[in-house]
Amino acid sequence: MPPNATSNISVECTGVLNECDAETIDGGLDKNIVELKHANDRQLKLVWRNIILFGYVHLAAVYGVWLMLSSARIYTSIFALVLYLASGLGITGGAHRLWAHRSYKATLPLRILLAFFNTIAFQDCAIHWARDHRVHHKYSETDADPHNATRGFFFAHVGWLLCKKHPEVIAKGKGLDISDLEADPVLSFQKKYYLLLMPICCFVLPTFIPVLLWGETLKNAWFVAAMFRWTFVLNVTWLVNSAAHIFGDHPYDQYINPSENKSVALFAFGEGWHNYHHVFPWDYKTAELGNYRSNFTTCFIDCMAKIGWAYDLKTVAPETIKKRVERTGDGTHHTWGWGDKDQTPVERDEAMIIHSKDQ
Ligand code: ZN
Ligand code: ZN
Repeated sequence: MPPNATSNISVECTGVLNECDAETIDGGLDKNIVELKHANDRQLKLVWRNIILFGYVHLAAVYGVWLMLSSARIYTSIFALVLYLASGLGITGGAHRLWAHRSYKATLPLRILLAFFNTIAFQDCAIHWARDHRVHHKYSETDADPHNATRGFFFAHVGWLLCKKHPEVIAKGKGLDISDLEADPVLSFQKKYYLLLMPICCFVLPTFIPVLLWGETLKNAWFVAAMFRWTFVLNVTWLVNSAAHIFGDHPYDQYINPSENKSVALFAFGEGWHNYHHVFPWDYKTAELGNYRSNFTTCFIDCMAKIGWAYDLKTVAPETIKKRVERTGDGTHHTWGWGDKDQTPVERDEAMIIHSKDQ
């Protein structure tokens, strides 16, 4: 039994499956969530259109890397990097932290900027992205989870996009309240004109800007700034669903699969601190600490807050985090050194202090 568990039922596991059902002060459930994690045997119905599409874009992306190293102009590579930063923020700071989790609020100019960035990323319109992500959190590791990681790395990474959705995903998605998303005129506009806006933002502009502004060839612009950049951001996003649900520590809750994965955090602008994020999904930092180097999105939101475009940033009280770590953590929660709030009294008492001044 985890320390300080409040359960009086004979189960070993407590944790959050559905965050709105949290029964304890630190957001945990007195419920055996391991029993809820499952993937029923089923015949996957393949979607060949997507298999061919993703097959092509990945080959095109590899060719884009070759062109980037051999013949593309340096400005084209820098432009691809800028698009990676912008479209990445459109997912992490926009669809994820702002719209799916409502972990902060944004003024109209910031919402328009993030919707534009989000459209460059082409990961479906933000309303659909946020709806699927809410289902992922509420029914994590079950058949209702769109990228149920109990089906393995490949399914959680890209396989879920290559076959038809499990009926549970659709049913649970319909049962979710997304009226807040539909009430946002910026998101409604993006959804309504998505099939016009997305090709322009994700493919046409990234291809023609290098051609028109610095004389890049059409071929280099297409394969580097469009194909490689888009595919790279897709894979970074997918790693949050695959690698960060399989590899890493569980300092906040050892009974859920999402893990603290620093490599994913670096590339995905702070989204790899996934054990914390699934425990406290409404924290705008998606991590306990807002280290900017491994959490670029937090840096962006903090900057936006400084100019007044982001406000009502929500974060978790250190005491709440500490209680949860002690109750359900796996013991890997890091301390920064002597005097850290998470250093245990036992560790402090038993430490050897040599060359003491009093000696
Ligand atoms: Zn997740
Ligand atoms: Zn999330």
